[in-house]
Amino acid sequence: SPYSAQLKSVIRTVRDWPEAGVNFRDITPLMQDRSAFRKLIDAFVHQYHDVQIDAVAAVDARGFIIGSPLAYELNCSFVPVRKKGKLPFKTLSETYKLEYGEATVELNADAFAPGSRVLLVDDLIATGGTMIAAANLIRRAGGEVVECVAIIDLPELGGSKLIQNAGFSVFSVCEFT
Ligand code: 5GP
Repeated sequence: SPYSAQLKSVIRTVRDWPEAGVNFRDITPLMQDRSAFRKLIDAFVHQYHDVQIDAVAAVDARGFIIGSPLAYELNCSFVPVRKKGKLPFKTLSETYKLEYGEATVELNADAFAPGSRVLLVDDLIATGGTMIAAANLIRRAGGEVVECVAIIDLPELGGSKLIQNAGFSVFSVCEFT
C-alpha cells in the first residue's frame, strides 16, 4: 500500500511485553489517529472492492476492529471467529499450538451459505497458527477463504509462508522485521 510507511509510523512497539524478549506491535495508536485508521480501512476496501466477497470473518478481538468496517464497506456479512466458550449456539472448533500451551478458536456452524467467499481478517500474523486454524474452520463451515488479511506481517517468524503452504493466499499492509 502507498500508506505502509505512514501506518507503520503509528504502530507502537512495546519491548518485553507480554514477556521478556518479545516486541509487541501495538495498534491502538493507529486506531486513535483518525487519518491513519481511515487510510487503513480504505486500503483494505480498495483491495477487495472489485472482488466478490460474501462475508468478512474476523478473529477475536483485534480482528473485529478492522473486520467490521470492512464488512460494512464491502456490503457483506460479518462473522466472528471467537475464542473458546464465547459463542452460545452450535459451533465448530479448532485447537492449535502456541509457543507455550494451546489455544482454541470457534465459529458458528451455520455462519456461511455453502460456497460463500470469505475474507479472513486479523491484526497480525506471527507464527500463522491463528490464521490457519481460523481458515480451516471457515472451510469446515462450507466457506471458501478468498484471502487471509492482516495489518502486520512478521515475515521472520514464517507464519505467512506457512499459511500459503497450507493453500491460502495472504495480504498484509506492512511488515516488521
Ligand atoms: P500467530 O497465531 O500468528 O502466532 O499470532 C497471531 C495472533 O496473536 C493474532 O491474533 C494477534 O492478534 C496476536 N499477536 C501476536 N503477537 C502480536 C503483536 O505483537 N501485536 C499484536 N497486535 N497482536 C499480536
